[in-house]
Amino acid sequence: MRILIVEDDPVLADGLCHSLQQSGYAVDHAANGEKADHILTIQSYDLVILDLGLPRLSGFDVLRRLRQRGSQTPVMILTARDDVDDRVKGLDLGADDYLAKPFKLAELEARVRALIRRGQSANSAQLELGKLVLDTAARRVMIGTEPLELSARELAVLEILMLKTGSVVNKEQIMERLCSWEDDIGENAIEVYVHRLRKKLKACDIQIRTIRGLGYLMEKSEPLL
Ligand code: CA
Repeated sequence: MRILIVEDDPVLADGLCHSLQQSGYAVDHAANGEKADHILTIQSYDLVILDLGLPRLSGFDVLRRLRQRGSQTPVMILTARDDVDDRVKGLDLGADDYLAKPFKLAELEARVRALIRRGQSANSAQLELGKLVLDTAARRVMIGTEPLELSARELAVLEILMLKTGSVVNKEQIMERLCSWEDDIGENAIEVYVHRLRKKLKACDIQIRTIRGLGYLMEKSEPLL
């Protein structure tokens, strides 16, 4: 899951980025409206968190242009506490939710989960393969009825592989969904995550095959006769 944070206050932006990364999202940050508008024309996101008062181009303009391009990406706007007009205008322009500043990170995260779940309800927020079930909104993995402990990064890699079950995913595709620009993780790191996932999935009826020169393929293992 990839989230764009558009916020010009560096302290708030840092806090948001950090906390959402901890929860296993790939997070990018734009500090002004113009940059956000540009990024949104070239990169797709699962959610945009959008401040309204921004340099260069206002949050309203970023939102208006995004919707004019036909994008359905869920958008949560950040507004001043008592500014009802801003809230109404934002929702009229196609925002999906708003949060008034200052807010608690726990509330933001709950809203983020709800919006991502809503954005995905067309496909179902739950990915299933054999006994393995990944709830993409709650960021939780189960093998049958047993919860599986994964790091945020391991969970993100697993999610990419499950979304593409039965087809080959190359390392570039994994890095693209996993990393924000500031991260600099190499292909070796991806091998490490896959290695750890294989170990943790050992008890499960799932295998992650390495397709030499191409990438990884996740599938149900055939029962041994
Ligand atoms: Ca601002």
